[in-house]
Formats: sequence, C-alpha cells, structure tokens
Amino acid sequence: MGTDIKKIGVFTSGGDAPGMNAAIRAVVRAAAYHKIDCLGIYRGYEGMIEGDFKHLTARSVNNIINKGGTILKSARSVAFRTPEGRQQAYDQLVKAEIDALVIIGGDGSFHGGMVFQNEFNIPVIGIPGTIDNDIDGTNYTIGYDTALNTVVEAIDKIRDTASSHRRLFFVEVMGRDVGHIALNAGVGAGAEEILVPEEDLGLDRLLESLKRSKDTGKSSSIVVVAEGDKTGNNVFELRDYVEAHLKEYEVRVSVLGHMQRGGAPSCYDRVLASRMGVKAVESLLEGHNNVMVGTINNQMVLSPLENAVKGSTQINHELLRVSDILTI
Ligand code: ATP
Repeated sequence: MGTDIKKIGVFTSGGDAPGMNAAIRAVVRAAAYHKIDCLGIYRGYEGMIEGDFKHLTARSVNNIINKGGTILKSARSVAFRTPEGRQQAYDQLVKAEIDALVIIGGDGSFHGGMVFQNEFNIPVIGIPGTIDNDIDGTNYTIGYDTALNTVVEAIDKIRDTASSHRRLFFVEVMGRDVGHIALNAGVGAGAEEILVPEEDLGLDRLLESLKRSKDTGKSSSIVVVAEGDKTGNNVFELRDYVEAHLKEYEVRVSVLGHMQRGGAPSCYDRVLASRMGVKAVESLLEGHNNVMVGTINNQMVLSPLENAVKGSTQINHELLRVSDILTI
C-alpha cells in the first residue's frame, strides 16, 4: 500500500466498552496480515507517556474477541493535556519507532489524538468505542449494542419483581448528554415512560401518564431515566416527586451503573469491531490521517476526526413517538 508505515501503536482510551478487545484483535491481525509491526500501548495516553508498550503478534490476541473490558487497559490522562506530557509521549513513540497510531475510544480521546497529530505530525486514526453512541460520523459505536442488550435484560428482571408487587420502578441508565441508551433500551423493554437529556417532556406529563397507566389497569410500571434527564431531576428526586403527587404508587429506584459497561460483547459489536479494525489499519496504510472509521448504512466510511470531536448526535424522534403510541 501507499505509505512507509512499518510499525503502528494501538491503544484504548477513555471509558471502556465491550468490543474493544475485538477491535484490538482486528487491528493486530490486520497489521500482521499486511506485514506491519504492532505495539500495544497500555493505559491509553498515560501509558504512552510512560512508554508502557508491548509487542503484539497475531497470536497475542487469541481468545479475546469474546471478552469485555480491554486487555490494554484504559485511562484518563491529565498529563497528556499538557504540552510537556505530549512531548514525553512523542519521545517514547520515536524511541519505540512507532510511525502511526490507532486510537480506540470516545470523542475526548480523538480530541487528544488531533492535538497530538497537529503538534507532531504523526498519522492517527480513530475507532469509535463507547457505549453512549454519541459520535458523529458513524451510525453505531463499538459497545453500544451490547450495552443496550445488557440494559434490556436488567429491565426485564426488574419488571418481574415490579409486577409481582404492583410497583413503579424508576431505572436510571447511562447517558449524561445523550439518551440513545435510554430511548432504545426503553422501547426494547416496553417501558411506560422514557426520560432523555434531549427533550423535556415535563413532570406533569409524567404524572398524567402514570395515572393513566394505573387507571387502564396496568399493575406495574417502568420509567427509564437517562442520567442527564432534561427535567433536571435525578432519579431519586423523581421518585420523591411522584410519591408526593400519586399516593397510590409505591416507587422503587434502580440505578444500573457500571454493569452497563461490562459483559461479553454482542455478535453485532464483535463484527463491527472486526470490520473497523481492518478498515483502520488499511486506511492508515493507504495514507489516510486524522480520520475516524465509521459505519453508515452498513458501509465502512471515513470522516474527519474533527467532525467526531465537534459533532453532536440527534435523538430519534420517530422512536420517541413509537414509545408514546405503544404505552397507551
Ligand atoms: P468516553 O466517551 O467514554 O468518556 P472519551 O474518549 O471521550 O471516552 P475522555 O476522558 O474525554 O474520554 O478523554 C480521554 C483522554 O483523552 C483524556 O483523559 C485525555 O488524556 C485525552 N484528551 C481529551 N481531550 C484532550 C485535549 N483537548 N487535549 C489533549 N488530550 C486530551
């Protein structure tokens, strides 16, 4: 292919997501296939600064496609946000003769990569790995599908106990700025109401909807709440508000928390990660730089890293309407 890249470094950075290992595996094996050396960089930018590298061969990544988390570990690095930290990182890459970087992470990690590329002119390519699905330039990020399945499974279990005791449950799911997990898992689990950061549906509407549920004979209700719900209330405040206004309800709260990041990746995430890893390595070898690999309409595409960093994704209004209709 068209460049003189001989050795690449791959790392995972920011929040971990299921499927990151499948992406590492794909990058390492695609490099081996194209006879390029590959170094794993441990703990993201933090390990880059410290020179925490390990040579990875096609056999180093046996039996990891099915594993959650990341074998390379992840970190958030304060030092990399400073010019001195990035200079140290660059010196370590030069010492290890790394010619190009594959970043598996979220928009913050891509931002760091862009700054680094601008300063030192080292080719970088991003693979979107985050459960939030909040990155412009791809329909899906690695880990999102698995997280959705994890949340749906958890809500199914909560519903068993909710219906046995005729209770109302507020279930908090991840999503400070975006409600993709809340909306999709909420519809998938048949939630009565879904509260997302993008839309303020209002507390009155929530009360009306819950009253209607009770009046029409529902014995239990599930309300899915994203961490960053637009009403500005956290899940415990919502519980207090509903209990104060609807005496007939006994309300319980379940915060799903970090379990949403864990577990074996779904088949979809494994396939997506495999495709993205191969595309990332081949794109670097073709001379692409400062871009992110994505999937749009099931085609692998490249888009400027800058878009991924600046972009914002939209909530699916059609799905919000579907949810409204189905909770009649
Ligand atoms: P998630 O979506 O799970 O939060 P992320 O990749 O967005 O993942 P961040 O913590 O925002 O996670 O970023 C990861 C790391 O990238 C930071 O800890 C920091 O080291 C580096 N980074 C982020 N922004 C910058 C920046 N502007 N300049 C230099 N480095 C940065």
